[in-house]
Amino acid sequence: MKTAFLIAACLLLFPCPASGSGPGEPAAGQGAIQEAPPPAQAPPAAPVVRRKVRYPEPQAPAAAIVRAAAPKAAPGPGQLRKKQIVAAYRDRAPKDWGERVAGVRTRLDTAEPVIALTFDACGGPRGSRVDNALIEYLRKEQIPATLFLSGSWIEANPAVFKALAADPLFEIANHGLAHRPASVNGRSAYGIRGTGSVGELVDEIEKNGRRIEAATGRKPKFYRPGTAFCDEVAVQVAGELGCEVVNYTVLGDAGATWPQEKVRQALLRAEPGAIVILHMNQPRSGTAAGVMEAVPRLREKGLRFVKLSEFPLR
Ligand SMILES: [Zn+2]
Repeated sequence: MKTAFLIAACLLLFPCPASGSGPGEPAAGQGAIQEAPPPAQAPPAAPVVRRKVRYPEPQAPAAAIVRAAAPKAAPGPGQLRKKQIVAAYRDRAPKDWGERVAGVRTRLDTAEPVIALTFDACGGPRGSRVDNALIEYLRKEQIPATLFLSGSWIEANPAVFKALAADPLFEIANHGLAHRPASVNGRSAYGIRGTGSVGELVDEIEKNGRRIEAATGRKPKFYRPGTAFCDEVAVQVAGELGCEVVNYTVLGDAGATWPQEKVRQALLRAEPGAIVILHMNQPRSGTAAGVMEAVPRLREKGLRFVKLSEFPLR
C-alpha cells in the first residue's frame, strides 16, 4: 500500500515529463488539456497529495480549448478573391505613375455630341462639404452626371449620399475608401501617400465599392483614385475587381481651386466625347458658378450631357 502511494505521488509530481512545459504554463500538447487520470490503484489519500504538489491545472475547461482549436470559419468569397489578386500581382513592379498611365480611361468612345460631367467628393477634414447650389442646379436643369464619392465623404454625409444614390439623374462611382492615390508600393501624390501594397489597394477600392453597392444595389464599375494618380499595375488590379479607372479629358476646376471664369473657359473647351473632372465638395469654390455659366453655352453648341455608363470608354 505504501509503495502504491509513493508511485501515485511520483506520477502526480512529474505528470508529463515529455511536454517540456513549466509549472503553471499549460502546454499545447495533450498534457495541457487533459488532467492526468489518477492511477487505477491510487489510495483515497491521492487527491490530498495533488493539492500539496500544486499540479498545474488547465486554465480553461477542456471543452473550451477544443472549441478554440477548431478550424476558423472559412474565408468569404471577397477574402479569397483578395488573396488570389495579391498572389497574382504581389511581385509586379510598376513603371509609370500619373493620371494617364496604361489602361486609364480618359474619354467616351463615341462621335456623338455628348459630354460626361464627373464630380468628385474627396472627403477628409477639408474635403467633406457639399456644394448644394451645384447639385440643385444639376437637378433643376436635369443634367445627368457621374459622382465619384470617397468612403470618408460618404461617412460625413450619410443623408446626402442616400438621396444622391436614390436619384436616377446621378450615377455613383468609386473615389476610394480613404481617397488615396492608387499605388501598389506606397507612392505619393500631392503629399498624400498612396496605398502601400496590392492588398491595401484592393481594400481601398473594394470596401468603398461594397458600401456604395449597399445603397444603390449596384457595385460601381468606375473608380477614380484619390488625387487621380495611379500606377499601371494598380489599374490592372482595379480591373480584377471589375472596375475601370476613369480620369479625364478636360481638367474642369483643378481640385476646386479655380475661380468661376477659369472653370467656364475650361468647360467651353470640351469636345464631343470629353470627360470633365470637377468637384462637388467645395461650395466656396468657383466650380458651381462656372458650370452654371458654361452649361447653356455648351447646349447651344449642340452638346448634351451623359453619364459615363451610357457609352464605352477609352
Ligand atoms: Zn478627390
